[in-house]
Amino acid sequence: MASPEAFPDIRAALDVQRRAFTAAGSVPAATRRQRLQRVIDMLVANADAFAAAMQADFGHRPAVFSIANDVLGALGSLKHARDHLETWMGDDARPSVAPFDNFGATAWVRYQPKGVVGIIGTWNAPLFTLFSPLACVFAAGNRAVLKPSEVTPQTAALVAGLVGEHFAPDELAVITGGPDVAAEFSAQPWDHLVFTGSTGVGKQIMRAAAEHLVPLTLELGGKSPVLIGQTADIHNAAERIVVGKTLNSGQLCVAPDVVWVPAEKAEAFLAEAREIFEGMYPDVAHNPDVTAIVNEKHFARVEGYIDDALRRGARVETLGEAVEKDAANRRLPLRAVVNPPLDADISQFEIFGPAFVLRTYDELHDAVAQINAGARPLALYYFGADDTERNWVLDHTLSGGVSINDVTMHPALHDAPFGGIGASGMGHYHGREGFLAFSHARSVYSAGTHDPRREWGMLPPYSDNFAAMIRAAVTP
Ligand code: NAD
Repeated sequence: MASPEAFPDIRAALDVQRRAFTAAGSVPAATRRQRLQRVIDMLVANADAFAAAMQADFGHRPAVFSIANDVLGALGSLKHARDHLETWMGDDARPSVAPFDNFGATAWVRYQPKGVVGIIGTWNAPLFTLFSPLACVFAAGNRAVLKPSEVTPQTAALVAGLVGEHFAPDELAVITGGPDVAAEFSAQPWDHLVFTGSTGVGKQIMRAAAEHLVPLTLELGGKSPVLIGQTADIHNAAERIVVGKTLNSGQLCVAPDVVWVPAEKAEAFLAEAREIFEGMYPDVAHNPDVTAIVNEKHFARVEGYIDDALRRGARVETLGEAVEKDAANRRLPLRAVVNPPLDADISQFEIFGPAFVLRTYDELHDAVAQINAGARPLALYYFGADDTERNWVLDHTLSGGVSINDVTMHPALHDAPFGGIGASGMGHYHGREGFLAFSHARSVYSAGTHDPRREWGMLPPYSDNFAAMIRAAVTP
């Protein structure tokens, strides 16, 4: 890790915000709404510029996807927070302590901003992973410093420039840089730190945050499974899985990674998936609707998984045009790797690209047992028309979130928490739960005007009567 002196601007950004936060005291709803509105206005006015930056960073990324996923995705969270923060932030009256409540004692929970929140984002959704958590961070009355991913440098530079134009540095600031800057960023005494990224780096973040006991939200990844039940409509399942898996060419934290299908339906599923893919993407290498793999390193990583599976004798089905592997173009068809060995790379690592593992099962219970033997995933998907089976799956698995008879949809719920569990993360943002995550729920007790303890013999020296009264209160 570089010395703190190497990055004085990170600490300075935090300090200037903390001073302003402390000086300001309460943060009225109007201030919170106005901050959110300025982010909204910034995104709306620059949607095309952001899409162009993401296009440049990826080599190719359809503007319609960049606007839908990153701009509209973030706007949805920001607008929901803007329109609900006033109801979220009100004091919450609670029952007071007996018997003092009979003498005017009251109690409430006050939701106070924590202070200054650091937010580290990823390249795959370079606006969403910064501005969607920021919605709840601002709604809760905090200030924030953003650290965009260095893998998408043009988007990061645009975020930094525009935030500098729209915000004073004591409200919202941006620090750009690579892993060394990110490591230093994660070692600061934030009042809360939000990290979106890989599980491996997430462990380093947690170690760094421990030094100052910084509360963390970790939005990580993993191998999100799909369970196709016997009662599922195979055409529908294949269509929704291909649609979801090809968003951003599989470079999505909630992309389906392993698809479990009844053994006798595997060939039908592959045939449907191929037809659907080819209908949506008749060609691949020069198709304007196909997102490129973000860079040569990730291109080599994904193709390495495929090559490793082939070397181990696994069947690999290419859905769509078989293209020359061109590290400069990096637009690829979807690959289905059928029942690879469990120690293959593609079985072990999050694929995060245009490929999925297809596993066949005879009994759904066995598929669930294998899912449960692995790390807890960010998303889990079930396809089927059998409500009993669906509930059994929900009761016998755990994941960050779930979509039923579809994939990748639950993160779009602006009024429901989005986050992982276990190796896929901790904490969440979106909706009231996100507001609560970035607030301190502070219990307040306010005494009444009369204290009956002395006249009721409740103070030392304790009387036998009081001792008997206390004992009598010990009831089941
Ligand atoms: P990454 O972990 O490589 O990088 C994420 C961020 O961490 C970047 O800003 C980077 O600069 C920083 N970083 C890198 N090394 C660091 C270090 N040693 N210390 C501190 N910070 C460091 O992840 P990525 O490749 O950008 O994103 C892909 C991963 O993110 C996938 O696993 C995906 O599933 C996950 N993801 C999760 C969500 C979610 O909401 N749960 C959303 C998007 C992506």
